[in-house]
Amino acid sequence: MEKMSLIIPCYNEEQSVTILYNEIDRVSRELPGYELEMLFVDDGSKDDTLKIVKSFAVRDPRVKYLSFSRNFGKEAAMYAGFCNASGSLVAVMDADMQDPPSLLPKMVKILESGQWDSVATRRVTRRGEPPVRSFFARMFYKVINKITDIEIVDGARDFRLMKRSMADAIVKMGEYNRFSKGIYGWVGFRTYWLPYKNVERAAGETKWNFWKLLLYSIDGIVSFSQMPLSVASFGGIALTVLSLLFVVFLVLRKLIFGDPVAGWASLACLITFIGGIQLFCMGIIGQYLAKTYLEVKGRPHYIIADTNDPDAKKVM
Ligand code: UDP
Ligand code: MG
Repeated sequence: MEKMSLIIPCYNEEQSVTILYNEIDRVSRELPGYELEMLFVDDGSKDDTLKIVKSFAVRDPRVKYLSFSRNFGKEAAMYAGFCNASGSLVAVMDADMQDPPSLLPKMVKILESGQWDSVATRRVTRRGEPPVRSFFARMFYKVINKITDIEIVDGARDFRLMKRSMADAIVKMGEYNRFSKGIYGWVGFRTYWLPYKNVERAAGETKWNFWKLLLYSIDGIVSFSQMPLSVASFGGIALTVLSLLFVVFLVLRKLIFGDPVAGWASLACLITFIGGIQLFCMGIIGQYLAKTYLEVKGRPHYIIADTNDPDAKKVM
């Protein structure tokens, strides 16, 4: 029998894990050909998430849990899942039912057709999301698709089902600054896009705020594009040319009209303008430097403090 691993990152999800577990249990009966493995990755929850997951594990041998020593973030949790999933099919899904397990049988069918290596989901509506967040999300996808070579689909979720070969490739992508949507695109493989309507959280609340999302989007851009660095260099060149032209203009004006000393205001404006641009460009370089710094240190992505899997890779 083939094995299917479900990776479920959980951070303070005590209100939704039970709903999710019951739903997966129900859906598993529609997948008789597969042996299920549920990998609950507890990302340092401060509530009773781990306790609840442990209670599933006591009565259900299909449940494995990996509990982090602190909150490492969703990306680290997904990576821990990939490193420890043993199925020939691997799926990632949120704990809050926004990635409906009921789609799994359909996704499995698509993979079984043999034409595809992975089934990705894409929500076609952003119902239930604050309009400001939707607006910035759309902008982000426009920008990142313009400046990177990989395609990142607007509305793409992290919810995916993939074959072993793709999961292995993702484990090999050991970068510290992880941006899964980019990683999925980078490794390639034949991907089927399954559209579905946005579902609201079953319970609890979102762990993301505007600031976290902004930082995450910078992560995404810096991880997959060198375009900002080019913009900084070309901006510098353009400004240099412009200032040379300005010098020529000033000299000519002096020769033709004499020099009525004026223009303190314009000078002050120019200085602050150029100072601003310089700082901005240094900021861009700083972003890349900071990411490089973290990569070079080679710190582990996650540390597992508690698990029921004796073979778990505890520090990766
Ligand atoms: N999550 C996590 N670590 C974190 C933040 C979130 O493992 O630091 C998990 C969370 O428990 C959920 C998934 O990531 O299963 C998506 O989080 P959330 O629903 O808050 O994000 P949204 O759906 O609002 O984008
Ligand atoms: Mg959610």
